[in-house]
Amino acid sequence: MVSQSPIGKSSRSNPVTYVKAYDDIRKLFSDQQLSKIKGFEPKHFSFNVEGGRCETCKGEGYLTVEMQFLADVTLLCEECGGQRFKKEVLEVTFKDKSIYDVLDMTIEESLTFLKIKKNILARLQPLSDVGLGYIKLGQSSSTLSGGEAQRVKLASFLTKEFLSKNIFFIFDEPTTGLHFHDINKLMDAFNALVENGHTVLIVEHNMEVIRAADWVIDLDLAVEKMVEIWYLEGRPEELKNISSSYTGQYI
Ligand SMILES: [Zn+2]
Repeated sequence: MVSQSPIGKSSRSNPVTYVKAYDDIRKLFSDQQLSKIKGFEPKHFSFNVEGGRCETCKGEGYLTVEMQFLADVTLLCEECGGQRFKKEVLEVTFKDKSIYDVLDMTIEESLTFLKIKKNILARLQPLSDVGLGYIKLGQSSSTLSGGEAQRVKLASFLTKEFLSKNIFFIFDEPTTGLHFHDINKLMDAFNALVENGHTVLIVEHNMEVIRAADWVIDLDLAVEKMVEIWYLEGRPEELKNISSSYTGQYI
């Protein structure tokens, strides 16, 4: 069940950690010559543990001030200027970019920047495939909409470790709140899941989605009596010819 609920409870979770690309990015930075000289390990490039992160903001880049009678106020961390890491750690660069610069890139920008790093690319590419090329690698999950969070989850299933598994996916009205253009992206992602050998069941009213299905189960409820449920099923083009099917009429 891939819902539109947030991808993580804390403000620290973000797209790049969710698709498990961050481990390899941290390793990439720890492999740079300056890291070797200074003894930086992958953990120094984490904002979740002590070591390399800015301790004033605990790697968040900003501070939250609780106001007694008002909503919490967030202030940019003065120590790191919102860059989340200690100065020495930010001095380590890969192709002239620091760990913060990479987290601040959009998925699309990172695909070009990390082109030669095939292992990282393989994890980031699905995020672009589901139409999330515009979000930033280190963007806090709390800033993602329900539809975006759902597609981040979906992207994680398009990585190669799920290729050998056959999963039955259930989506409840996944097009809710999505722009027409995003619905097409979502459909591409569904098709990619099916091509990878998975099965996708979608509860949906959107006609574009219904029309693209391999098989439709058309449910109708006798609303007044609330007792009778009937259904018709078939390929969309078959339902089209059944006059008693409301869905068929719209197909
Ligand atoms: Zn800070």
